Amino acid sequence: MLYDNHGRKINYLRLAVTDRCNLRCFYCMPEKGIDFVKRQELLSYEEMERVVRVFAKMGINKVRLTGGEPFVRKGLMDFLWKLSEIEGLDALHLTTNGTLTAKLVPDLKALGITSVNLSIDSLDADRFKQITRRDSYEQVMETFHQLLENGIETKLNTVVMHGQNIDDIIPIIELTKEKNISVRFLEEMPFNGTGKKEDVKFWNQADILNHIKSHYSNLVKLQDPPHSTSQNYQVPGYAGSLGIIASYSRLFCGSCNRIRLTPTGTMKTCLYDNGVFNIKKMMRAGATDQDICTALLEALGNRAKDGFEAEGRRPLNNDISESMATIGG
Ligand code: SAM
Ligand code: SF4
Repeated sequence: MLYDNHGRKINYLRLAVTDRCNLRCFYCMPEKGIDFVKRQELLSYEEMERVVRVFAKMGINKVRLTGGEPFVRKGLMDFLWKLSEIEGLDALHLTTNGTLTAKLVPDLKALGITSVNLSIDSLDADRFKQITRRDSYEQVMETFHQLLENGIETKLNTVVMHGQNIDDIIPIIELTKEKNISVRFLEEMPFNGTGKKEDVKFWNQADILNHIKSHYSNLVKLQDPPHSTSQNYQVPGYAGSLGIIASYSRLFCGSCNRIRLTPTGTMKTCLYDNGVFNIKKMMRAGATDQDICTALLEALGNRAKDGFEAEGRRPLNNDISESMATIGG
């Protein structure tokens, strides 16, 4: 079992398989995109598989694939099949924008994917286009229906954006009336790929909760599962539930069980840090599995206690302004 220097158990790896994406959500990257890394700079599937095998022996039993958009990288399904066979991994999750996913859902079911987080910021096709700068609403909804039809546990992720999709919050919650899904509202963070931390008006978790409570005065607080990043609620009588993720207020750091690996092999022990070591460089210089274990143990022995400390440890002139696609959201 893995623990950090604050006694937090670490069992969850978020693995970003690419920084590339076919959408341009404005809170994540600029319209022209970001400087996508060259293919040889990405961890290869073989390298990622090796890292997961090593980490699984150390106590990581849950992996989430993310990006960028994982499905824009060729060969993803074969990689998922390989991961699904790794001993010690109990849970394999995916976060996707759903644009390329619909026809692959039966295969995801067949390989035993544990759950899928589908990002959708609006149920209005025009607003969806405005936010993502692409016309892909229908494809995303098709993925949503496929996930439900195939009985895959599904969570919807919605970033709450001032002046953009506030009117979508209640219609998205209404999806939980008949469907046993969880919809989660995320605080927007400054990770938007612009190169500088902008002074945007962010809706925080209290703003989001107040808005929801003004519509559902009888909202019930649910017990949050251990290590949950969301504070969870239910509208009485509804089949599903809703959650609020205080990603910018950073209210969940005390029970954080996650580490992250970026597409270029940078290991992060906090979303807000600047990277703690680079696994790709180590592996390409001939590191053994034991060297990788040692590097991770050292990094966990010096882990920031929360996202504020991690942000504070960044070098000067290195604001939290990189794209989430380069981190793995
Ligand atoms: N492309 C996939 C997707 O959109 O689901 C996976 C990668 S994306 C970076 C993962 C999650 O991060 C998405 O739910 C997205 O909405 C969220 N995200 C991206 N940029 C964000 C930001 N600046 N603030 C809050 N959430 C953000
Ligand atoms: Fe692409 Fe996901 Fe970023 Fe949107 S949030 S631009 S879908 S990586």
